[in-house]
Amino acid sequence: MPTSPAAKTDGASREDYLRSRWDDALAAKMDPVERLIYRSNILGADARITNTGGGNTSSKIEVKDPLTGERTRVLWVKGSGGDLRTATKANFASLYLDQVLNLRTLYEKNEHRGPKTPAEDAMVGMYPYTTFDRNPTASSIDTPLHAYIPFAHVDHMHPVAVIALATAKDGPALTREVYGNDVIWTNWQRPGFELGLELERVCREHPNAKGAILGQHGLINWANDDKECYLLTLDLIRRAQEFLDARAGKADFGGAKVQALPEAERRRVLVEVLPWLRGKVSAEKRQIATVEMREEVLEFVNSHDAPRLAELGTSCPDHFLRTKIKPLYADWNPEGGNVESLKTVLEAGLTQYRADYAEYYDHCKRPDSPAIRVSSPSVILIPGVGLVAWGKSKSESRVTAEFYNAAIGVMRGAERVSQYIALDRQEAFDIEYWLLEEAKLKRMPAEKPLDRQVVLVVGAGSGIGKGLLARLLGEGASVVAIDRDGDSAVAAGNELQKKVGMGIGVAGTGISGAGQIVGLGADMTDRAAIRRALSEAVVAYGGIDQVVVTAGYYPNPDDKGEVGDHEWARAFAINVTGPYLVADERVDLAGAQLERRALERLHAGVGLGHVGRAKHDLAHRRSGQRRKAAACPPSTFTICPVVLLKSPFRNAVIARI
Ligand SMILES: [Zn+2]
Repeated sequence: MPTSPAAKTDGASREDYLRSRWDDALAAKMDPVERLIYRSNILGADARITNTGGGNTSSKIEVKDPLTGERTRVLWVKGSGGDLRTATKANFASLYLDQVLNLRTLYEKNEHRGPKTPAEDAMVGMYPYTTFDRNPTASSIDTPLHAYIPFAHVDHMHPVAVIALATAKDGPALTREVYGNDVIWTNWQRPGFELGLELERVCREHPNAKGAILGQHGLINWANDDKECYLLTLDLIRRAQEFLDARAGKADFGGAKVQALPEAERRRVLVEVLPWLRGKVSAEKRQIATVEMREEVLEFVNSHDAPRLAELGTSCPDHFLRTKIKPLYADWNPEGGNVESLKTVLEAGLTQYRADYAEYYDHCKRPDSPAIRVSSPSVILIPGVGLVAWGKSKSESRVTAEFYNAAIGVMRGAERVSQYIALDRQEAFDIEYWLLEEAKLKRMPAEKPLDRQVVLVVGAGSGIGKGLLARLLGEGASVVAIDRDGDSAVAAGNELQKKVGMGIGVAGTGISGAGQIVGLGADMTDRAAIRRALSEAVVAYGGIDQVVVTAGYYPNPDDKGEVGDHEWARAFAINVTGPYLVADERVDLAGAQLERRALERLHAGVGLGHVGRAKHDLAHRRSGQRRKAAACPPSTFTICPVVLLKSPFRNAVIARI
């Protein structure tokens, strides 16, 4: 059976991303459906060929119909959802091809038909009636794109280099220049039944064409042999890539307007600003962050043209469904790295962004449009620093970052050879608020109790702490596993990450490219070590919501039943000072993340335990060591204190067990 590429590569990989990954010996052992899955997996191997979850593939395969015993043509086409790289047979719908083609008769009976009509959307509901062999996989809206192209194999990709041509002002002329008559330009049209008919027309009128550019959107190409189709896809992308590369010369994006901050400075700015920013973008729903600081991203955010291009937004429908109509560009001068001035710029930017989003919704909405969705940006561009993407989980925010990375590549190419044109606002709205997209969102599984939460577990390398990790992950949390024994924390994190899987999306610089869990070494009795670990957690996920301390130490009395001073000191350090330091550093971080009112509630503390109160006292009464000692009376030294700092957005509770 096919084995999918281990991981998706992207612009960070300097290998030739368009090399053939086809293995004849492997393919020879496969049946036609397995070969389709194999082709799909290797096409999905690199984000520059197609984005995570983007694109689809098909094969028209003749088989014996179990109903009649006669030969029949079956369209195997990637269904709704899933990703090409990891697709299995379960991701492919199988439909009686002739029945799908016959749907045209039904469609043409509608007097009011055409792109974006209810008649066109209604065809999606007809595909299940054409199912072959009781296959339960739901067909995607792209099904007719594959059915109506009269070739056995079809690949539809979202390659960065080709979308650069598809979003260029001179797209049709550039297509002719790059491809001659091999690839035909088609204007933007929302995917659906009409686009299928349009592609049928292209094939009829251009019998020698091998593919078409879908304006603003991507590439579709075809062949009667599957390997030939795969190699053609790579070749067409390569022709676009080489065309763009040959035009590299002067600086992209109008050159640098500002310089990137040194890496350590970028990190300092992020640690100071991210928890605060996360609080701001989570006003409607809590979000998890992914930070991108790769060279290409920095080149873009630092450039003269970034504000203009950012305002235009992304183009490929897959991209903008995640990145929203546009990112928020922070018009900030990074020189000196003044975080307060960045916050001021971001605060004003967020207000403007939300107003713009409401205006976009009001201007474009239709009588039956779904209600306005979250109006905070999902991508924030910070000159000198990089890009911050937001999502409901780590995996989702990585996807958003991946898609804006792709969009930067698209804009770079388009601007090199022409001028970048974004998708028309109304067209973008009609995708974003499409009733079929809304139905897809409604079919999403309900969120888990700890989705959108970042939980830090101290003492996670063994025992209760380690046991807790799986439970937290299972309930949806993003988890930072910390232990004094760094190796055990990293091992616990890696083991569980393997179990839950990396999720989707190829993006994130350094620790921000993490999965749902990351393991770190830190001694909680060392304030500097704790501060470093919390900083790592912030760069990884954007902030911290809950802290659990399970680390503890039980001193053994000697033969006389006495505990030596050294043992006492150790027990006190681990059981009392450690949790205090974690909570103390955490509260400082919370100060950045919370609104002032919430912070006051945290301090005033209905139900607030000793450690939090000690922090309050320290901060406001300066009563010092006496209070610190009162945080955990000496009588508790034989009992491991477990400190639970519950969500700062609700009540803060510290419990000792
Ligand atoms: Zn597409």
